[in-house]
This record gives sequence, structure tokens and C-alpha cells, in this order.
Amino acid sequence: MAKGFDKHQQRHYILSEFGKDLARRSGSRCELCETAHTALRPYEVPPIPHEPHIDQCIFICDDCRKQIDSPKHRDNDYLRCLNRSAWSEIPAIQVMAIYLLQSLSKEIWAEDLLDQLYLTPEVEQWLDQLK
Ligand SMILES: [Zn+2]
Repeated sequence: MAKGFDKHQQRHYILSEFGKDLARRSGSRCELCETAHTALRPYEVPPIPHEPHIDQCIFICDDCRKQIDSPKHRDNDYLRCLNRSAWSEIPAIQVMAIYLLQSLSKEIWAEDLLDQLYLTPEVEQWLDQLK
């Protein structure tokens, strides 16, 4: 049990080390909703690798985190913020934005957006792993 705890601590430490680079990459704005002046935390986009990797992390606010963590409480209006992040050139951001958009069934604006996007094979493959 102690070992598991250490591992968790270690992962947490590595992720917080990513903070500086993620702050630079994101310009200190949430990488999903682009809100500035709010607390941002690294989030690992699944599937979670054995060792944390920055390319698999997105830097997001607590509100976006809630939208990811509680599918039942997804707010379709809130998620309109993904309009821009769905076009991100950073695969982890694009994957998470599209994943959330795809969960919004019957939202015409979300479907239109998804139709317009060009996805690289890398992003397609990653999305398949989230299903
Ligand atoms: Zn956000």
C-alpha cells in the first residue's frame, strides 16, 4: 500500500513539474475554454501512460475538469468554448475537445464543427482509444 502511495506522489510531483512548460504552452489560459486568471492544473488525457508525458497533458481549469469528470452534468452551452480548442494543433488538446464534442448528442453546432475538422491519423487513433 505504501508503495502505491509513493507512486501516486511521484506522479503528482512529475505532473506539477510540467506546470511551468504547460503555462508557457498555454499562455496561462485554460487549454480548453481559454479562460485566463484562473487556477490551471495538468490533466492527463487517457490512456494514461506508465510514465507521465507532457505531450499527453492538457492544462485546464477546474470547470473544464468537471465537464470531463462528470458526463452526466455536461453543460452543452458551456462546452461551446470548445469551438476554438477543437482546432488546436496540439493533439492532446484537440483529442479532449473532440471527445467532449462527440459526447454532445443532438447538438447541431457540435456536429457541424466536427464535420469541419480535419483529423490527423494520430488524433483519430487516439480518439479510438478513448471510446
Ligand atoms: Zn477551462
